[in-house]
Amino acid sequence: MTAVDPALRATRTTCPYCGVGCGVLATPDGSGGAAISGDPEHPANFGRLCSKGSALGETLGLEQRLLYPMIRCSKGRMGRVAWTDALDHVAHRFRHIIARDGPGAVAFYLSGQLLTEDYYVANKLMKGFIGSANVDTNSRLCMASSVAGHRRAFGADTVPGCYEDLDQADLLVLVGSNAAWCHPVLFQRMLANKQQRGARVVVIDPRRTDTAGDADLFLGLKPGTDTALFSGLLVHLADAGALDRNYIDNHTSGFEEALARARCIAGGIGATALATGLSEREVADFFQMFANTSRAVTLYSQGVNQSAQGTDKVNAIINCHLATGQIGKPGASPFSLTGQPNAMGGREVGGLANQLAAHMGFTPPEIDRVRRFWKAPRIATHEGLKAVQMFEAIGRGEIKALWVIGTNPAVSLPDADAARAALKKLELFVVSENVRSNDTVSAGAHVLLPAQAWGEKSGTVTNSERRISRQRAFLGPAGEAKPDWWIVSEVAKRLGFGGAFDFNSAADVFREHAALSAFENNGSRDFDIGALTSLSDAAFDAMAPGLWPNRLGDLQPQARFFADGGFYANDHRARFIAPEIPTLRTEISAGRPLRLNTGRIRDQWHTMTRTGSSPRLGQHLPEPFVEIHPGDAIKFGVADGGFARVVTHYGQCILKVTVSERQQRGMLFAPIHWSEANASAARVGALVAPFTDPFSGQPENKATPVSITPYEYVFRGFALSRVPLELPPHAWWARAAVTGGYGYLLADNADLADWQSWLRAAAGADPAEYRDIAGGVFRAASFNEDRIETCLFMGSARDAGDWNAVKNLFAADKLSDDQRRMLLSGRSIDGLASIGPIVCACFGVGCSTICDAIAAGAGSVAEIGARLKAGTNCGSCIPEMKRLIAQADVADPAHDQHKKALAAS
Ligand code: SF4
Repeated sequence: MTAVDPALRATRTTCPYCGVGCGVLATPDGSGGAAISGDPEHPANFGRLCSKGSALGETLGLEQRLLYPMIRCSKGRMGRVAWTDALDHVAHRFRHIIARDGPGAVAFYLSGQLLTEDYYVANKLMKGFIGSANVDTNSRLCMASSVAGHRRAFGADTVPGCYEDLDQADLLVLVGSNAAWCHPVLFQRMLANKQQRGARVVVIDPRRTDTAGDADLFLGLKPGTDTALFSGLLVHLADAGALDRNYIDNHTSGFEEALARARCIAGGIGATALATGLSEREVADFFQMFANTSRAVTLYSQGVNQSAQGTDKVNAIINCHLATGQIGKPGASPFSLTGQPNAMGGREVGGLANQLAAHMGFTPPEIDRVRRFWKAPRIATHEGLKAVQMFEAIGRGEIKALWVIGTNPAVSLPDADAARAALKKLELFVVSENVRSNDTVSAGAHVLLPAQAWGEKSGTVTNSERRISRQRAFLGPAGEAKPDWWIVSEVAKRLGFGGAFDFNSAADVFREHAALSAFENNGSRDFDIGALTSLSDAAFDAMAPGLWPNRLGDLQPQARFFADGGFYANDHRARFIAPEIPTLRTEISAGRPLRLNTGRIRDQWHTMTRTGSSPRLGQHLPEPFVEIHPGDAIKFGVADGGFARVVTHYGQCILKVTVSERQQRGMLFAPIHWSEANASAARVGALVAPFTDPFSGQPENKATPVSITPYEYVFRGFALSRVPLELPPHAWWARAAVTGGYGYLLADNADLADWQSWLRAAAGADPAEYRDIAGGVFRAASFNEDRIETCLFMGSARDAGDWNAVKNLFAADKLSDDQRRMLLSGRSIDGLASIGPIVCACFGVGCSTICDAIAAGAGSVAEIGARLKAGTNCGSCIPEMKRLIAQADVADPAHDQHKKALAAS
C-alpha cells in the first residue's frame, strides 16, 4: 500500500466524518476539486463509502472558508491581520489573563475532528505548560461514557475487539445505535455476515430506526432502561448456567456484588419486562439468543452514551461479556462505536479533561512520568472541567479566556442558549476554524484563526477499532490556512515554551506522541505505539493503516485485548460494576408530557458546516423535523407535514412534523444538525437538558421533558438563488445546498405583498411575476439570459410549488422557451415532473421514482437496483427502500401476492 495509488494517481486518505474511519482515494481535478472513491485496500471499508463519504468531492469549495486571520477591533468589527499579529495577540492576552487570574481562568475546547497531532500539541500546552487541565472536547458529548465504562471495568480505555469480529460473530446486538444511518459501512458489513453466515441481529432502541429493518429481533424498550435489560440478562445468564466460571474466577472481581445488584434491578424475565416496557416473550427471546452463543458482539453508541446514567449502561453491557468470557475473542466482544473520526485519537493523547496523556490519568506516578517526559514546568495535577461544567464556569465568569478549535459548541452543547450566552462574557474568545461564520463565531469571537481543512491537512486519525490511519493532503491550503498543530505551537513559543514546541511537521509531533506512549510502559499501559517512534518522514508519509498496540519488538500489531485476562488494574483483573438503580434525572409533567430524543440523520454530519455544502446530501431530508407517533400526533393536534412548536425548560424550536410508527408513544425525535446559520428555529441543542453522567460528565441528550403544540403557517414555499439570501425576520426557513446555488424552504404568515417587495430587493432586477394575491399565490423569477438567477414560490400548502421539480430547472444552464414561460404558471410541463424527495443520494433517485418501480413490479432491493441503480453504490438507502417495499405490500396486498408468486416460480 502506497500513499498514492500509482494506477489512479490518487492520494490515499481517510474520511473526515464518522468513527468507522473509511479509507478514501482522492484524485485532485486540478481546479480545487477532487474525484472521490473508497480505498479498496483499507481494512475498515475495503472500498465502500457511504453517502456522506461519497459526496466529499462536493464539499471542497472555498465559498464559506476562513482564508486569513482576523481580529475584532474596538469598534466591534472583524478585520484582517497578519498571522504574526494574530498569534502575538492571542499569546499576549493568554499570558496576561493567566498572570492575573491563574491557569484555571483559561480553557481549550477541542474537537473529535482534529488530527491526533493537533490534539497532542493542544493538550501538551494546556496540561503541561499552562498548568491547567481545562482542556475538553466535543467527544465529551459523544462517547465519554464509553471511556468511563472501559476505565472502570478494564482499568484502561481499551476497545477489546476489532472490525473482523463483526464478520465472525453469530449474534450482533446493537444498543442505542442507528448504525444504518450513523455507521453505514460497518452496518453493511454486519448485514453481509447475516446474509453469508446467518448471524442474527438484535436491535435495542426506543426508536424503530432503519437499523431495525434488518433485525431478527427488535426491542423497542422504554428510554433509559438499558441498564435494567442488561441487568436482567446477567441474572438470566447466571440462572441458566451460561456463565464462564473460569473466566470470572481467574480474570475478574466483583461478580457477586454486581449479580446481587442486577437481581435488585431486574431479577428475572418478568421483572425485566416490567422495567423495560418490553413483553416477556421479547425479553426471553433476547436472553436465550445471548445465552446460546459464544460469539456475541454488543455494539453500542450514542443511545447508550448520551445519558445521565451512560457509564452504568456501558458497564451493565460489559458485565454480561465478562460473565460469559466473551471478550477479545474472534466474534465476541463489547464494542463501542465511536461517533467522530478521531475521538479515539483524542482519547489517546488525553484530549479529555479527566485524562492526562497517552492513556494516563492524574495519579501521582502518572503525573510525574508525563512531567518528566515533557520536561513540563507546571504540569496540571488534577482533572479539569468537563465540557458542560466548563461552559457553566464560563457563564459564571470563572473562565475568562477560551480557545475553541474545530467545533461549534453554540449549537452542539446541551442548553445551547446558555452556552452561547456564556461565550459572550469571555474576555478573550479565540476560534480556530475552517469556515468564516457559524453560530460559535457569531457568538462574539474576538480572534479567528484559519485552520486547514480535510484535503489540506496531514496527520493521523484513529477509528473505532483502534486503527491509526493517515489523513493526507491532496490540495494546497485555502488562503493562509495553517495546520492546527502549527497554530498552537506558535502560540506556545510566544508564551515562552519554544523548546517543547519546536515541531516542524505532523510527523515530528507523531513521533513524540508515539515515544510518550512507550515511555516507562513495559506493558503496564494498553496504549503503546512505541514501534512507530522512529518513523522517518518518508515512512510516516507512507504509513499504512494499523491497529494499536504496536509495541517495539512485537512482530505485528495486536488485534484484540483480554481474551486471557491481562487487564490494566493493579491486580490485572477486570471489575464487574454494580450499577445504580436506573432512574431518569428528569420527570415528565402535565406541562412537558413527552420526552425528546435527539440524534443524527443519514446524510448530514454534525452542524453541517461541511455536508451542508453538498447538493447531493441536501436532497434526502432537507428540512428540520420532529418525529412523533400517530397516537401522540392526534393527542397533541399536530399533523404530518404541518409545523409544531417544541418547547422544553431550556428553549424552543419550530419544526416540520413527521408522523411515524417508528417513534414510540410518549417520545419525540429531532435531529441535531440545524443551526442558526442554516435554519430560523431549529437549533435542537437549545432544547436539551444539561444534566450529566456523574462518572463521564456526558450529557443526557435523549430524554428531555418536552411539549409539542401545532404551529400554523398560512403560506409555504421556497426560494432558490445563485447567492446566499438574507431572509425576512418573520419567515420560518431552512437552507439546503442545491446544484448551482442555495435553496431555502420557507413558511410564513406575512402578507404576500411583503414577499413581493422582499424578492424585488433580493433579486436586484425586475423579476417575472405570477400573482394571485386573492388566491394566495405569488411566484417570481429573475433570469440571467436563459438561466434562473433567483426565484420565489409562495402559496398555500397546496399551491407552494414543487421544490424538487423547480430545483431541476434551477440547475439547468439553459431553459427552453416553454420551460421559462410555464415555470411560474403552476401548470404541468415536461421536465417539471417531480421525482420526489431523494432516497438514493449516490444516483439521485427519488421516492416517487422508486415507488413507480415498485408499482411496476420491482419487489426487492436488487430489482430496484437493477432498474434504477438505487442502492447499488454505498447501500445507505437500502433500509429506506425496504421500507417503501413493505409499505407497498401493506397498501396493496395484490403487490405482495404478485411478489410471492414470482418468488415461487
Ligand atoms: S461510514 Fe461513511 S461517514 Fe463513516 S467513515 Fe465511512 S464513508 Fe465516512
